[in-house]
Amino acid sequence: MKRTMLSGNEAIARGAFEAGVKVASAYPGTPSTEILENITRYPTVDASWAPNEKVALEVGIGASFGGGRALVAMKHVGVNVAADPLFTLSYTGVRGGLVLVTADDPELHSSQNEQDNRNYAKFAKMPMFEPADSQEALDFTRLALEVSEQFDTPVFLRSTTRISHSKSVVEIGEPVTSLPDTSIKKDPAKFVMLPGNARKRHVVIEDRLHRMEEWACQQPFNRIEIGEGKIGVITSGVSYLYAKETLPEADILKLGMVYPLPKQLIRDFASRYDTLYVIEELDPFIEEQVRAMGIAVHGKDILPICGELTPGRLKKALTGKEDVPFHAPQEPLPNRPPNMCPGCPHRSVFLTLNRLKAFVTGDIGCYTLGFMEPLSAMDTCICMGASIGNATGMAKVLNAEEAQRIVAVIGDSTFLHTGINGLMDMVYNNSKATVLILDNRTTAMTGRQENPGSGYTLAGDPSYRIDIEALCRSVGVKNVTVVDPYDIDHTRTVIKAEMERPEVSVVIARRACMLVKRDPVKRQAALKVDAEKCTGCKACLQLGCPAIEWQPDAGDKGKAVINPLLCCGCGLCPQMCHFDAIGGHSEG
Ligand code: SF4
Ligand code: SF4
Ligand code: SF4
Repeated sequence: MKRTMLSGNEAIARGAFEAGVKVASAYPGTPSTEILENITRYPTVDASWAPNEKVALEVGIGASFGGGRALVAMKHVGVNVAADPLFTLSYTGVRGGLVLVTADDPELHSSQNEQDNRNYAKFAKMPMFEPADSQEALDFTRLALEVSEQFDTPVFLRSTTRISHSKSVVEIGEPVTSLPDTSIKKDPAKFVMLPGNARKRHVVIEDRLHRMEEWACQQPFNRIEIGEGKIGVITSGVSYLYAKETLPEADILKLGMVYPLPKQLIRDFASRYDTLYVIEELDPFIEEQVRAMGIAVHGKDILPICGELTPGRLKKALTGKEDVPFHAPQEPLPNRPPNMCPGCPHRSVFLTLNRLKAFVTGDIGCYTLGFMEPLSAMDTCICMGASIGNATGMAKVLNAEEAQRIVAVIGDSTFLHTGINGLMDMVYNNSKATVLILDNRTTAMTGRQENPGSGYTLAGDPSYRIDIEALCRSVGVKNVTVVDPYDIDHTRTVIKAEMERPEVSVVIARRACMLVKRDPVKRQAALKVDAEKCTGCKACLQLGCPAIEWQPDAGDKGKAVINPLLCCGCGLCPQMCHFDAIGGHSEG
């Protein structure tokens, strides 16, 4: 056995390899993204990005039906996109083992909500494992694939941001060598979910859950750790670590599988204590099931239901005492709100939309930051691909003058994820709104992953690049215009004209993300402000570029200065300056 340090996501990738997974598919999304990126290290696994989570799961289902083991990964909200095939997959069951990794994001570090996807296990009637560290992330991935085949069911593996991104020591093993061959095997009664077949499969599912519940009482992943015998705690996942740290004297029932629960084991454990806690993050998922068994517990009556359950929050809930963070700074840290990078090609688009007083139905990506001041040009943000449908709906209820102000803004990856359906609806139902596709040639916000519009696969191999203009035209959009967002005046002229057009139009603002290395757009030398010419008019500050700093004490009104360490010479700010004060290259 070799020991190494792995993050939870790296450990899941390793577990998939060791378990003999043949196919892995995902759409990137924090905190799950690194699972697929790490799986590319194992050439025995065919790993690929899918355009969205539904397709990723359908690819996994196909591999499983062909007899191969499959892993599908997504962030928590991605399961909402994949829910349609998921619920029926629970009915069909599997051939090769199939594990669906849901990486949840308590505290919303990088998400639009903090839904607790343990609820999906109960809703879809699927078992769910929940690792507490990287070793369990690896072990439970292997186990989940075995359990999937043993009980003929897809299996959830639920991670959270802390598990996915924290590193701990892991013993890695060898890959399995004795998996059955893949093959075509017809079995329509199992795989064709017409009502007559599905009714019978529903009975199979209920029986499966009942058998798993009894089986889980005997399994080592649900274990009791004996303390001083006075307080009992039922917990799982990262909350187990917090419980150990906060209540070191407690007896703990650590659940490795949070659905279905090992009810007899819980009854036996609970009967020993006068004081019993269920310690879990977000929803009272375990607590409600334990209470439904007639067992009195403390849970969300004292613990927070929102946000992460840190050891400090747990201690405060249990004892009323504030915990002083170990690494508390001596002085408060400066506020550092998120911002688009210097030179981001999205910046001028939001400046333009602000100036045109557009009402922007937005979407998920770096460009969601167009909401921040001073750009302040994003008015809604719901979920992947929602911007276009939102624009259509708003335009339907507004008068013609107000409807003209509606602009849907969506990135290239998000457009190909689920935005294209909204565009079809727009054309089909004669919407008047305008769509702005910010094509930065990558899935930028999650770390610059490839997508069908980037022209490269997950492995970095050149591939077919979807022609977004042609795609828009093919669904019936007559007015498709491509602009360079680094040309502020032209971008404004085109967007204004298309907003005034009384029919669907698409504007594609195309420039690669400043961080995409292989694209021809490269960082240029930093520009500088000529202090003699700068009048302190502040026009350049309207861009909100982090490289432009303000010196309040310079001159009468203050002056702008460009930080040469941040500026990448994109050339936007000279277009804002009417005094020709920005140019040249910094010597710094
Ligand atoms: S990562 Fe790329 S797209 Fe995202 S803010 Fe930075 S430059 Fe813009
Ligand atoms: S726009 Fe030009 S003149 Fe105005 S503050 Fe910026 S650099 Fe100075
Ligand atoms: S050229 Fe101006 S807008 Fe572009 S990165 Fe430099 S300071 Fe920012």
